[in-house]
Amino acid sequence: MTNCAICKIIHGELTPPGGILFQDDKVILHHNLDVNIFGYLLVSPIRHEKDFENLTDDEWVQMQAATRNAVQLLKKENPSIERFYISSFGELTPHVHFHIFPRYDWMLKDPDVYFEGELDAAKLFCHFRQKLKQYIDKANLEKIEAFKKTLKSKA
Ligand SMILES: [Zn+2]
Repeated sequence: MTNCAICKIIHGELTPPGGILFQDDKVILHHNLDVNIFGYLLVSPIRHEKDFENLTDDEWVQMQAATRNAVQLLKKENPSIERFYISSFGELTPHVHFHIFPRYDWMLKDPDVYFEGELDAAKLFCHFRQKLKQYIDKANLEKIEAFKKTLKSKA
């Protein structure tokens, strides 16, 4: 699909920061393109598929394995990541993908992530995606490159 950003990445027409971080016969994992938060990844099937319910068993299993491996490694090496938010929306890009969003300890200091006094994860995700929507800076690009090397060495 020519207008699909994920297919463009798979076909080398669009390069995410650090390139493709992991790829097997069914799935790819890469960093997000335009939110300056290190470790905010996207995992997708290689096959262009719009709807989650049409994923094959292999695609599903391999997407989960790639996600788990990335999350384990990122949490181990970045203690300020306390949790990961994992979600799929499918509103803008018509190719199934999961957002693997790191929730850092410093994010809780922002009053805009609370609703009626409680942490609101969906609000936090939305808030930081908007607040930090910009190019990936040099420091984060270096972290992505280092993460890619570690991920490769564990594969
Ligand atoms: Zn696609």
